[in-house]
Amino acid sequence: PLEGRSAIVTGSTSGIGLGIAEALARAGAAVMLNGFGDPMQIEETRTALADANDVDVAYDGADMSDAAAIRRLAERASARFGQVDIVVNNAGIQHVAPIAEFPPAKWDAILAIDLSSAFHLIQATFEPMRQRGFGRIVNIASAHGLIASPFKSAYVAAKHGLVGLTKVVALEGAESGITCNAICPGYVWTPLVEKQIDDQAKSHGIGRDEVIRDVFLKNQPTRRFASVEEMGALTVFLCGEEASSITGTALPVDGGWTAH
Ligand code: NAD
Repeated sequence: PLEGRSAIVTGSTSGIGLGIAEALARAGAAVMLNGFGDPMQIEETRTALADANDVDVAYDGADMSDAAAIRRLAERASARFGQVDIVVNNAGIQHVAPIAEFPPAKWDAILAIDLSSAFHLIQATFEPMRQRGFGRIVNIASAHGLIASPFKSAYVAAKHGLVGLTKVVALEGAESGITCNAICPGYVWTPLVEKQIDDQAKSHGIGRDEVIRDVFLKNQPTRRFASVEEMGALTVFLCGEEASSITGTALPVDGGWTAH
């Protein structure tokens, strides 16, 4: 359904971003990958995606905390593909600590990577989308863009901000064929979640198994982690023609968490 389209997916060397990049490529879109990781492994992912789907797949390692690098990423993608139709702002980091101990440098990094990067990439791609009369912007927020949990001050603030940015961009793009939506996942099993287990265990004073049962899945009524494939499928749908009237939304994909 996305043949002839081209996409940038930030933070797509791992987890949800990689799942979304795979789904977009399978749907026929050219994809610019981004994110950190082992260069050989990234190159393997890039060629595998391109070969399996017969689409152009490129990679740019722009650091999402660097506004100039983000602008260069947008320029490279539009030079390589001719245009950028789809932007998925997915790159994100997390830090879990009580507010009194929360390192200010982590606050700054989370605000930069989880929120400001989306502004910079949207700013760099919005005007050409407007001129062509088509654009799809998907921001990977979080259930924590809608509700809060303790020990995640920066993350909850950044994700609420991303939901707000989503609404503004939706309004500004509404008459130009540009939609902007936020996906708000609950817990999805990825390296980001795996890495949190120890910090959560420390902050709550409990063991690893209890973190999975009593912190991660306690609030997710389905009692299962969502999958990166589910995030990919929703993103492909939002990027299609049939989603033209869906804009400015924050869509929970959280097994019922925010229905509580
Ligand atoms: P992940 O750690 O598996 O992947 C994060 C990706 O972002 C990686 O590709 C990493 O290299 C990249 N990245 C990190 N810092 C970067 C930077 N400065 N510049 C460029 N790339 C950078 O994490 P994930 O779980 O797949 O999370 C992806 C997004 O989904 C994040 O925004 C996260 O907040 C959000 N999210 C995840 C969950 C979950 O349960 N996993 C739930 C809700 C929201």
